[in-house]
Amino acid sequence: MAVDGFGRKIDYLRVSITDRCNLRCKYCMPEGLDSKLPHDEILSYEQLIKIITSFAKLGIKKVKITGGEPLIRKDSEKFIVAVKKIEGIKQVTLTTNATRLYKNIDLFLENNIDGINISLDSLRNDRFKLLTGSDIFETKKSIDYLLEKKYNNLKINSLIIDGFNEDEIIDLAKLAKVNELSVRFIELMPIGQAKKFKGVSRDYILDRLENEFGKKKIVHKILGNGPADYITFDNFKGNIGFIDAIDHKFCESCNRVRLTSTGKLKLCLQYNTGVDLSDYAKGEITEDEFFTKVSKALMIKPKENQFKNLEDIKDENTNNMNELGG
Ligand code: SAM
Ligand code: SF4
Repeated sequence: MAVDGFGRKIDYLRVSITDRCNLRCKYCMPEGLDSKLPHDEILSYEQLIKIITSFAKLGIKKVKITGGEPLIRKDSEKFIVAVKKIEGIKQVTLTTNATRLYKNIDLFLENNIDGINISLDSLRNDRFKLLTGSDIFETKKSIDYLLEKKYNNLKINSLIIDGFNEDEIIDLAKLAKVNELSVRFIELMPIGQAKKFKGVSRDYILDRLENEFGKKKIVHKILGNGPADYITFDNFKGNIGFIDAIDHKFCESCNRVRLTSTGKLKLCLQYNTGVDLSDYAKGEITEDEFFTKVSKALMIKPKENQFKNLEDIKDENTNNMNELGG
């Protein structure tokens, strides 16, 4: 079992398979900011599978496929299904903007992909387009199809940005009122481009929700990979989640590390701290050396984020979110 220097059990790996994206969300990869990872440094699927297989031997049980936009990488759907077959990997989930999801849904359902998170910050096409540079229709079509298929682990991830989409909190939450899905409000973290924007707090969102739907009810069942707190309301079919890494730090129970598409193991979103595992992918070190390298790296996984004290950070992350995978 993989354990870090603070005794935290690490069983969750987020794998970014590309830093490229077909959308241009202003807080992540806005117009003018292009992918910067050299194409020839991106690991092949075989190399990624090799790394994940060895991580599974170290105790990683859950894998999230992310990006950039994972589904714009050629054959990513086949790769996702292949990860599901790795011995020891119990759960494979995906986070996507869903613009290219529709044609893959049947394949993902047939192969029991364990969860699909769709990022959706606005339900209005004009606003979605302003934020992302693209239309909303493909994303909505995928959501509708998953609902039609009664897919049972659909999560909508919404970022509420001060002065931009607070007026949609209720409409977004209503998706969880009428459907069996979770709408999760993700707090904007000051990483990369997002430093130019301000998020809104859980308390603010909760106030708006309770005014509209009545008193919240806590959901005790564990629904995701750890960090979200879930609530629901009377007459809701689904749930509302909050992931607020700044206001409600969950570092004490952090169970995750991140692998970038070039093979860098990132130990915490806010720090550069990490190691390069591309040598293992390329066969330059043995599996035993890989195990030693990863185990040593886990010992320097930072204790907690310092989003509230940015000036205290010594080794601040210099990657944008499209490289890190969220
Ligand atoms: N393209 C895919 C998507 O949008 O779901 C996967 C990659 S994206 C980087 C993963 C998640 O990170 C998205 O839900 C996005 O909203 C979120 N994200 C991006 N920048 C963020 C920030 N600064 N703070 C919090 N979440 C962020
Ligand atoms: Fe692309 Fe996802 Fe970043 Fe938006 S949040 S630009 S969809 S990677």
